[in-house]
Amino acid sequence: MHCPFCRNSDTKVLDSRVAEDGGSIRRRRACLGCEQRFTTVEQMQLTVLKRSGATEPFNREKAVAGARKACKGRPVTQDQLACLGQQVEDALRALGSAEIPAHQVGLAILTPLRELDEVAYLRFASVYRSFESAADFEAEIALLRLDREAAALAAGPGSHAACGGTVGGSGKDAERATSATTG
Ligand SMILES: [Zn+2]
Repeated sequence: MHCPFCRNSDTKVLDSRVAEDGGSIRRRRACLGCEQRFTTVEQMQLTVLKRSGATEPFNREKAVAGARKACKGRPVTQDQLACLGQQVEDALRALGSAEIPAHQVGLAILTPLRELDEVAYLRFASVYRSFESAADFEAEIALLRLDREAAALAAGPGSHAACGGTVGGSGKDAERATSATTG
């Protein structure tokens, strides 16, 4: 890759380190032209295997497009959606496979979306799991209730999965964004 300072294409690797989770490699590089130093991160390319048999590179924004649609009109912020994208990508990378069936991407969205907004979750699940009747909604809502009660007993109220932190949004930012972007 080009030096980000002078665009020279000759760079030298000074140091390589595997990230703690084993999912990426960081390389410290020096430009042979201007001698500036910079770091590159090498990650496995996730590929999505579509139902048609075609494959395409995993795209976080595209992966959560359906969830984004399901959140329309709901009090969900851009930060929270970015966080969801991060959670989905993390979950998929944790599977340790380079090629992921499209339905697996949908599955990875269900859990964090349920944490985020139950109405959006039901919308998404109704499309993704092809709900056919009100009874399907009722069954899913009954499950949500059971899980909510179980979670309340186990962890006490207000416990939510936090974002991995690689996205800029801290809790404080998300709150600020809520008041700024709704409406
Ligand atoms: Zn340079």
